[in-house]
Amino acid sequence: MKQIRICSGCIQMADKIIILPPEIVNKIAAGEVVERPASVVKELAENSLDAGATVVEVEIKDAGKNLIRVIDNGSGMSKEDVLLCTSAHATSKISSVEDLERISTLGFRGEALSSIASVSLLRIITRTEKMDAAVELEIEAGRIKSDKEIGNPKGTTVEVRNLFFNTPARKKFLKSPATEMGHIIHIMEQFALAYPVVQFRLIHQEQELLNLLPVEDKLARVDEVLGGDLAENLCVLSFEERDFKIYGFLSKPNFSRLDRYGQFFFVNKRAIANKSLTHAVFSVYQELLPKERFPVAIVYIDINPRLVDVNVHPTKREIRFQNEKLIHDSLYQAIRNCLLENSLIPEIKEGAGNAAESFKTGEQVTHYSYSGTSQLFQEDAFFSPEISLLRKTPFLQVNNLYILTSDEEGVLIIDQHAASERIIFDVLSRGKETKEIQRLLIPEVIDLGLKESQILKENLEELRKLGFELEEFGKTSFQIKTTPAILSDKNPRQLILDIVSEIQEGGNRVFKLERERLLALIACHSAVKAGDRLDDLQVARLIGDLKNTKFPYTCPHGRPTMIRLGWEELEKKFKRK
Ligand code: ADP
Ligand code: MG
Repeated sequence: MKQIRICSGCIQMADKIIILPPEIVNKIAAGEVVERPASVVKELAENSLDAGATVVEVEIKDAGKNLIRVIDNGSGMSKEDVLLCTSAHATSKISSVEDLERISTLGFRGEALSSIASVSLLRIITRTEKMDAAVELEIEAGRIKSDKEIGNPKGTTVEVRNLFFNTPARKKFLKSPATEMGHIIHIMEQFALAYPVVQFRLIHQEQELLNLLPVEDKLARVDEVLGGDLAENLCVLSFEERDFKIYGFLSKPNFSRLDRYGQFFFVNKRAIANKSLTHAVFSVYQELLPKERFPVAIVYIDINPRLVDVNVHPTKREIRFQNEKLIHDSLYQAIRNCLLENSLIPEIKEGAGNAAESFKTGEQVTHYSYSGTSQLFQEDAFFSPEISLLRKTPFLQVNNLYILTSDEEGVLIIDQHAASERIIFDVLSRGKETKEIQRLLIPEVIDLGLKESQILKENLEELRKLGFELEEFGKTSFQIKTTPAILSDKNPRQLILDIVSEIQEGGNRVFKLERERLLALIACHSAVKAGDRLDDLQVARLIGDLKNTKFPYTCPHGRPTMIRLGWEELEKKFKRK
């Protein structure tokens, strides 16, 4: 027990809690912590988790406007501490400036309870292991109204009624009950994903919305929280460095969403937002997914607390890494490796989520199921030299579009256009083929409109790097002198026109196409088309080249290059089993 000064001339007894001195308070990122009911839920549940609770129950009435009650079975507070806990800057979690640099708890500023207490009617019931009875405290607009002993098990219950009763402006800004509940559910999901061993319950208007039992395995929790067919379409992310560890789950490329809602980042179990982490995920998937589609990514980073600053944002949502680039690059690498190691060939299966049907771009979620690793992409010897390939792998081009072949696990159906696009895209992005340029015997001339020619001018340099030499020929005309060899006999004029119109579609602001988009366009034009008849050697080359690409399983627009019909599935279909 210690004596602490809470204001000049005012001394109070305390157990674990202290009132932070001004030199620490001044170093704390100040700002509003209680914006809406979900922020109250967040702060209270954080306190429960910091108190070591294994069960956290959240009860809500009227989307939080009238009641938010969080019940935990954590350590509880002594009578001295509970009397202090709603004072400004009262915390048991840090006591020195140095502590600010190694935060390992969710809270540390001693601001939440005091802020919540000042805008609501608060009731706290708490009991530690040592106490014979619980203490109940009632606080109105920050003032303690009553304290008494009552019977209650170990742990803490915090009840917040009439939120924002004395700040009508803030109350007015609350959104519809459905929206506010949506925020609360999202907060609960974040906690649930970060703490799989903790049981979480959420009750709204006496109806149980969530009851997540403790699980050892994070994937089981992910499955329960995010549901659907997600779990079987995830691959496991894992990466370790001396000072940090990255792990988690990523959706395979054909399981994507129309929003970023499936992306969660946790740093030392804290749900956070950080631009470089989002960017790392985006950079890997941008080649694999169609535009405007997003992967599911649940990324956990455990890092030495000294290497991350959590004291940059009032609600602690944003954080800063000491070495932002290292974390970004590590996550990027980890994601790439994860996707490469996993077989990314969609498998045809009976029942829900039928591969052939499920890739509809309008749907919220598209899904294929994937399984096993492909032998086709492991046995290098299998592919070289080409002659042995011809002898060893039977294949067949059908409908001048698909190539049927097989690997250890089943029959493979390859889309020749998608496969060829992927191959060309890869060659172009490696910059290999750009030196191989073909000069046109008779330069092609294109005439453009004023704006279009302006657009093309802006992109001449980038195009030149890729092997297109274009010369201005009058005000709005250009001569195409060279093209990349990979385009062979394809019409360069049409391609240039397409590039210009694609840039134009992007709106007036963007006059330059991202390099990736440019490459995808060139790949699309140069690729083998649906309807092209291929001879055996061309098919063998296509299969061999596809295997050598970075991501053989999807084209640069994110469509699959191949799907597999597993041997087992075939046996079932033919009733052999
Ligand atoms: P912080 O979490 O930043 O320390 P809070 O205002 O959220 O600040 O809480 C103040 C203090 O009250 C905490 O440091 C902790 O000692 C105590 N406390 C709050 N909630 C609980 C709880 N559910 N169980 C045990 N102690 C709690
Ligand atoms: Mg707190």
